[in-house]
Amino acid sequence: MTKICPNCKSENTDDATFCQDCGNELLRTADPGTNKNKKTNSRGTMDFWNKQSTGRKAVVGIAGICCIGLILIVAFGGMFSPDKTTTTTPATNTTSTPPSTTSNTTTATGTQVQIIYDGAWSGSINTDGTGQSVDGSGNKDIDIPSNVNIVAAVIQKSEDNSQTLTVNILKDGKIVKSASTSASYGVVSISTSV
Ligand SMILES: [Zn+2]
Repeated sequence: MTKICPNCKSENTDDATFCQDCGNELLRTADPGTNKNKKTNSRGTMDFWNKQSTGRKAVVGIAGICCIGLILIVAFGGMFSPDKTTTTTPATNTTSTPPSTTSNTTTATGTQVQIIYDGAWSGSINTDGTGQSVDGSGNKDIDIPSNVNIVAAVIQKSEDNSQTLTVNILKDGKIVKSASTSASYGVVSISTSV
Protein backbone atom coordinates (compact mmCIF):
# COMPACT_ATOMS: atom_id res chain seq x y z
CA MET A 1 0.00 0.00 0.00
CA THR A 2 1.25 3.47 -0.79
CA LYS A 3 0.50 6.92 0.42
CA ILE A 4 -0.37 9.57 -2.09
CA CYS A 5 1.02 12.93 -1.14
CA PRO A 6 -1.88 15.39 -0.88
CA ASN A 7 0.42 18.14 -2.01
CA CYS A 8 2.24 16.82 -5.06
CA LYS A 9 0.37 13.57 -5.66
CA SER A 10 3.56 11.51 -5.71
CA GLU A 11 3.58 8.01 -4.27
CA ASN A 12 5.32 7.34 -0.99
CA THR A 13 5.89 4.16 0.99
CA ASP A 14 3.28 3.24 3.50
CA ASP A 15 5.50 3.94 6.49
CA ALA A 16 6.67 7.33 5.23
CA THR A 17 5.83 10.22 7.48
CA PHE A 18 6.87 12.94 5.03
CA CYS A 19 6.63 13.05 1.26
CA GLN A 20 9.91 11.99 -0.36
CA ASP A 21 9.27 14.43 -3.16
CA CYS A 22 8.10 17.66 -1.59
CA GLY A 23 8.58 17.03 2.14
CA ASN A 24 4.90 17.54 2.87
CA GLU A 25 3.67 15.74 5.98
CA LEU A 26 1.88 12.59 4.96
CA LEU A 27 -1.29 11.70 6.75
CA ARG A 28 -2.21 8.19 7.67
CA THR A 29 -4.80 7.01 5.18
CA ALA A 30 -6.14 4.63 7.82
CA ASP A 31 -7.02 7.57 10.00
CA PRO A 32 -9.46 9.71 8.10
CA GLY A 33 -10.17 11.67 11.25
CA THR A 34 -6.74 13.15 11.30
CA ASN A 35 -7.05 13.92 7.65
CA LYS A 36 -10.25 15.77 8.30
CA ASN A 37 -8.68 17.68 11.15
CA LYS A 38 -5.83 18.69 8.94
CA LYS A 39 -8.19 19.95 6.30
CA THR A 40 -10.09 21.86 8.92
CA ASN A 41 -6.90 23.38 10.18
CA SER A 42 -5.95 24.36 6.67
CA ARG A 43 -9.28 25.94 6.09
CA GLY A 44 -9.00 27.71 9.44
CA THR A 45 -5.72 29.25 8.38
CA MET A 46 -7.31 30.56 5.24
CA ASP A 47 -10.24 31.94 7.22
CA PHE A 48 -7.79 33.71 9.50
CA TRP A 49 -6.02 35.18 6.47
CA ASN A 50 -9.25 36.27 4.88
CA LYS A 51 -10.32 37.94 8.12
CA GLN A 52 -7.29 40.16 8.05
CA SER A 53 -7.87 43.63 6.78
CA THR A 54 -6.70 44.53 3.30
CA GLY A 55 -4.23 46.96 4.81
CA ARG A 56 -2.57 44.28 6.87
CA LYS A 57 -2.35 42.07 3.79
CA ALA A 58 -0.69 44.88 1.94
CA VAL A 59 1.81 45.38 4.77
CA VAL A 60 2.65 41.69 4.78
CA GLY A 61 2.97 41.72 0.99
CA ILE A 62 5.21 44.77 1.00
CA ALA A 63 7.32 43.25 3.75
CA GLY A 64 7.76 40.16 1.58
CA ILE A 65 8.70 42.22 -1.46
CA CYS A 66 11.16 44.19 0.61
CA CYS A 67 12.70 40.97 1.83
CA ILE A 68 13.19 39.75 -1.73
CA GLY A 69 14.55 43.12 -2.76
CA LEU A 70 17.00 43.11 0.12
CA ILE A 71 18.22 39.64 -0.79
CA LEU A 72 18.69 40.72 -4.41
CA ILE A 73 20.57 43.86 -3.36
CA VAL A 74 22.87 41.85 -1.12
CA ALA A 75 23.41 39.24 -3.84
CA PHE A 76 24.12 41.79 -6.57
CA GLY A 77 26.17 43.92 -4.22
CA GLY A 78 28.38 40.97 -3.44
CA MET A 79 28.60 40.16 -7.13
CA PHE A 80 29.69 43.59 -8.32
CA SER A 81 31.54 44.99 -5.35
CA PRO A 82 35.25 45.10 -6.17
CA ASP A 83 37.36 42.50 -4.50
CA LYS A 84 39.03 44.47 -1.77
CA THR A 85 41.97 42.13 -1.46
CA THR A 86 43.05 42.50 -5.08
CA THR A 87 42.23 46.13 -5.86
CA THR A 88 43.87 47.82 -2.91
CA THR A 89 46.10 50.42 -4.47
CA PRO A 90 49.62 50.36 -3.07
CA ALA A 91 50.39 53.27 -0.83
CA THR A 92 51.83 55.99 -2.98
CA ASN A 93 55.37 56.81 -2.14
CA THR A 94 55.04 60.32 -0.81
CA THR A 95 58.66 60.93 -0.07
CA SER A 96 58.79 64.65 -0.68
CA THR A 97 62.03 66.07 -1.88
CA PRO A 98 63.61 68.04 0.94
CA PRO A 99 64.11 71.74 0.26
CA SER A 100 67.38 72.37 -1.42
CA THR A 101 70.02 73.45 1.05
CA THR A 102 72.56 74.21 -1.65
CA SER A 103 71.23 77.56 -2.76
CA ASN A 104 73.59 79.98 -4.42
CA THR A 105 72.73 82.88 -2.17
CA THR A 106 75.57 84.20 -0.09
CA THR A 107 75.44 82.79 3.41
CA ALA A 108 78.27 84.92 4.73
CA THR A 109 77.64 87.03 7.79
CA GLY A 110 78.58 90.66 8.08
CA THR A 111 78.46 93.40 5.47
CA GLN A 112 79.65 93.04 1.89
CA VAL A 113 79.63 95.04 -1.30
CA GLN A 114 78.85 92.69 -4.14
CA ILE A 115 79.78 93.67 -7.68
CA ILE A 116 78.15 91.70 -10.49
CA TYR A 117 79.53 92.48 -13.92
CA ASP A 118 80.96 90.40 -16.73
CA GLY A 119 83.84 92.74 -17.48
CA ALA A 120 86.27 95.27 -16.04
CA TRP A 121 85.16 97.84 -13.48
CA SER A 122 86.68 100.29 -10.99
CA GLY A 123 85.53 102.69 -8.32
CA SER A 124 85.63 103.39 -4.62
CA ILE A 125 83.96 102.16 -1.47
CA ASN A 126 83.42 104.55 1.40
CA THR A 127 82.92 103.17 4.90
CA ASP A 128 82.06 105.70 7.62
CA GLY A 129 83.91 108.37 5.70
CA THR A 130 86.98 106.30 4.90
CA GLY A 131 87.39 105.66 1.21
CA GLN A 132 89.24 102.90 -0.57
CA SER A 133 89.76 102.42 -4.26
CA VAL A 134 88.61 99.16 -5.80
CA ASP A 135 88.91 97.66 -9.25
CA GLY A 136 88.62 94.30 -10.82
CA SER A 137 87.06 92.19 -13.50
CA GLY A 138 84.03 89.96 -13.18
CA ASN A 139 81.96 89.34 -10.07
CA LYS A 140 83.50 90.24 -6.74
CA ASP A 141 82.43 90.33 -3.09
CA ILE A 142 84.23 92.93 -0.96
CA ASP A 143 84.01 92.44 2.80
CA ILE A 144 83.28 95.48 4.93
CA PRO A 145 84.44 95.62 8.57
CA SER A 146 81.66 94.76 11.00
CA ASN A 147 81.95 98.01 12.96
CA VAL A 148 81.03 100.10 9.91
CA ASN A 149 77.65 101.88 10.01
CA ILE A 150 77.41 103.52 6.59
CA VAL A 151 78.57 101.97 3.35
CA ALA A 152 78.76 103.88 0.09
CA ALA A 153 80.04 102.55 -3.21
CA VAL A 154 80.61 104.15 -6.57
CA ILE A 155 81.48 101.63 -9.26
CA GLN A 156 81.98 102.39 -12.94
CA LYS A 157 82.11 100.13 -15.95
CA SER A 158 85.49 100.31 -17.67
CA GLU A 159 83.97 99.36 -21.02
CA ASP A 160 81.82 100.83 -23.74
CA ASN A 161 79.08 98.23 -23.90
CA SER A 162 75.49 97.62 -22.87
CA GLN A 163 76.13 94.92 -20.30
CA THR A 164 74.54 95.45 -16.93
CA LEU A 165 76.64 96.31 -13.89
CA THR A 166 74.92 95.57 -10.59
CA VAL A 167 76.18 96.59 -7.16
CA ASN A 168 74.55 95.08 -4.07
CA ILE A 169 75.16 95.88 -0.44
CA LEU A 170 74.65 92.71 1.60
CA LYS A 171 73.99 92.35 5.29
CA ASP A 172 74.30 88.76 6.56
CA GLY A 173 73.78 87.42 3.05
CA LYS A 174 70.66 89.51 2.32
CA ILE A 175 70.55 92.38 -0.15
CA VAL A 176 69.77 95.61 1.71
CA LYS A 177 70.49 97.91 -1.21
CA SER A 178 70.87 97.28 -4.93
CA ALA A 179 71.50 99.40 -8.00
CA SER A 180 72.53 98.72 -11.57
CA THR A 181 73.29 100.33 -14.88
CA SER A 182 73.67 99.15 -18.44
CA ALA A 183 74.90 102.43 -19.87
CA SER A 184 78.21 102.74 -21.65
CA TYR A 185 80.84 103.41 -18.96
CA GLY A 186 77.87 103.46 -16.65
CA VAL A 187 78.25 104.37 -13.01
CA VAL A 188 76.44 102.84 -10.06
CA SER A 189 76.32 104.99 -6.96
CA ILE A 190 74.86 103.34 -3.90
CA SER A 191 74.88 103.94 -0.16
CA THR A 192 73.08 102.61 2.88
CA SER A 193 73.39 102.25 6.60
CA VAL A 194 74.09 98.74 7.76
ZN1 LIG B 1 4.63 15.49 -2.02
